Amino acid sequence: MRGISHFIDGAAVSGGAAARRQDVFDPNIGKPQASVELADAAMLARAVASAKAAQPAWAALNPQRRARVLFEFKRLIEANMEALGHLLASEHGKVVSDARGDIQRGLDVVEFACGVPHLMKGEYTEGAGPGIDVYSLRQPIGIAAGITPFNFPAMIPLWMLAPAIACGNAFILKPSERDPSTGVRLAELAVEAGLPPGILNVVHGDKVVVDAILDHPDIKAVSFVGSSDIAQQVYARGAAAGKRMQCMGGAKNHGIILADADLDQAVADIMGAAYGSAGERCMALPVVVPVGEATAKALREKLLTAIEGLRVGVSTDPDAHYGPVVSAAHKAKIESYIQMGVDEGAELVVDGRGFKLQGYEDGYFLAPTLFDHVTPAMRTYQDEIFGPVLQIVRTESVAEAVGLASKHQYGNGVAIFTRNGDAAREFVSDVEVGMVGINVPIPVPVSYHSFGGWKRSGFGDLNQYGMDGIRFYTRTKTVTSRWPKGGPVTDQSFVIPTLR
Ligand code: NAD
Repeated sequence: MRGISHFIDGAAVSGGAAARRQDVFDPNIGKPQASVELADAAMLARAVASAKAAQPAWAALNPQRRARVLFEFKRLIEANMEALGHLLASEHGKVVSDARGDIQRGLDVVEFACGVPHLMKGEYTEGAGPGIDVYSLRQPIGIAAGITPFNFPAMIPLWMLAPAIACGNAFILKPSERDPSTGVRLAELAVEAGLPPGILNVVHGDKVVVDAILDHPDIKAVSFVGSSDIAQQVYARGAAAGKRMQCMGGAKNHGIILADADLDQAVADIMGAAYGSAGERCMALPVVVPVGEATAKALREKLLTAIEGLRVGVSTDPDAHYGPVVSAAHKAKIESYIQMGVDEGAELVVDGRGFKLQGYEDGYFLAPTLFDHVTPAMRTYQDEIFGPVLQIVRTESVAEAVGLASKHQYGNGVAIFTRNGDAAREFVSDVEVGMVGINVPIPVPVSYHSFGGWKRSGFGDLNQYGMDGIRFYTRTKTVTSRWPKGGPVTDQSFVIPTLR
């Protein structure tokens, strides 16, 4: 079986026969296709040592030269898009067209990071006092690490590593051990693009290596994306060690449908947002909130018709809307939530359990599930299910619908569907959620804005990519300089200097 090794100093590195390993599955067939090594603290130390040796020279290059490497990296990713898409889909299970989107959204951040000469520019104030000028500059923090989830094996590593290396840092990526190959392939392409070995290292593993990252004194910043409980633990441990931390967590995004919405458009949008990628997106829309009985009735009918037209298939099926979920354990978890919904008293309108794809009976497939009459007290409403399960929560007023999204423990994304500009504007202002869509079902911000949720969807204060990405991977140094006219000033002063 194919072995997946770490990537350190520009080459594959193995811990040898003694290393712990874990199977990597093909979710389409439910069988292992490779085995990934799991790093220990010693392997992480090796990656850090390589990063530490390489980083000063990389940081010393002028930013335009670093940008040139990123331009070439972007070109190579584009040239390898098809192969990368198939590799990603074969481990994750998403359909290849969706895998291309995963890569493209990461590529957008690489493109943004190509602007680093401009993005890293500091600020300057001439004449802040007599002969005094003040300026601030951005310097790289040194070595940063990124710990990423299974569901976007290209996009999320690129969110992190592109701004990190553009700013002159070395970066250590710890991809999900469930689909680790895309991260390695991206690092190989970066080296092929001219990135010096050691500036981008990849170590695989589980909690053991994550803890080693959080405890290593030479790693100055850690970016994490994954589920909320782990995000919170990682945030606490890294922050206690004095590191800069940004930890993005889980989600339960609501799609609010007002009575005046274009229902056909909204249903088309909701279908893709709820069931695309088998619901395994942190910006999926697994809760739909119609306002008023008539809206709920019409919505349910249209959803039922649309669900009948959904096609579940293998990743390489160009006509499939979505593929298998990532693992047998995750499939079992989703099925147990469907049973819980029934037990809690929600109406199971469409049951996706028991679906078998002909020829792929062992694959981790689930057909779409639809629940109606879900209520806020139900655990299946409160928890993130992360599967192809859509829940309808009926409300009687806009205030009630907005209150649901605002009060939910997660605050990643939310969408409102309406033709009423006043209602949309008030919604944007009031809702307690980090990313808002108006007639946009998956409001993942473009690469030059930044991505981040509120409440239990995000720990730390800086978002991913955009200007926040540049801020996260740099430290500000502020310089106050005095060149007094007519020679040095020799007066002594024992009070704090002021410019009054
Ligand atoms: P996960 O939390 O299981 O794993 C995320 C990362 O943490 C992986 O690299 C994993 O190896 C590591 N990890 C796992 N257990 C750990 C532990 N006990 N201690 C330290 N590290 C550990 O998440 P996942 O299942 O891979 O991804 C799905 C989750 O990620 C969902 O909750 C989803 O909403 C969330 N997500 C959030 C965003 C966002 O930006 N907010 C984006 C994508 C996914």
